[in-house]
Amino acid sequence: MTKPLAILGGTFDPVHNAHLRVAWEAAERLDAEVRLVPANVPPHRDQPVANAHERAAILRAALQGQDRLVLDERELRREGPSWTIDTLFELRDEIGAERPLVLLVGADAFLGLPSWHRWGELFDYAHVGVLTRPGHEIATLPTELRIKVASRRTADANALLASPCGRVLPMPVTPLEISATEVRALLAAGGEPRYLMPDAVLADPRLLAPYRTAI
Ligand code: ATP
Repeated sequence: MTKPLAILGGTFDPVHNAHLRVAWEAAERLDAEVRLVPANVPPHRDQPVANAHERAAILRAALQGQDRLVLDERELRREGPSWTIDTLFELRDEIGAERPLVLLVGADAFLGLPSWHRWGELFDYAHVGVLTRPGHEIATLPTELRIKVASRRTADANALLASPCGRVLPMPVTPLEISATEVRALLAAGGEPRYLMPDAVLADPRLLAPYRTAI
């Protein structure tokens, strides 16, 4: 059976250890190739502090020394808003109809899914793996999401291997209460985010310079 392909999209402004760790755990749990897909123009939020080129450079440094998590820059090459549905459509076209494709989202992003462009169609292209995130416990789902998810939910990771798309898997991961917001604030205040992000990023002070000057 071919390994699933999984993607974790985000602004990665900047990438931090929780992104990397939860992506790693998902890769292990699903025995998947995982790609980190930075958004060019994030449609659901404020514009990033660092530009696309700067955020990709940080990601590249962060991913050094391993080959299980891979940077995918397709959204940076696309004009306009980075709609996830377009990325899934492209990936589905590339990998064919049968290979399982998994959209990984943190619990906070999952709760916001109904605001995503053509969100109902996401399940036609991919499964959704919902990563737990401290401070974003899912007590109740918004009605439209609850209805959409009800028949798709599974607790069995193998169910994601048995079909190319359409299931929703809650994925408990190590709770790491790190956010890019916190890292940006620390950097803007002149602090050092050691152990919140990989040493390889801190080793090159130019990488984090955009956050030192911004506030
Ligand atoms: P910001 O603080 O700027 O909002 P962020 O830390 O949430 O950023 P994003 O780039 O927005 O980072 O997140 C990308 C994806 O990673 C989202 O699906 C998000 O839910 C998930 N994610 C981010 N941090 C964590 C975490 N600590 N635990 C689990 N998932 C996370």
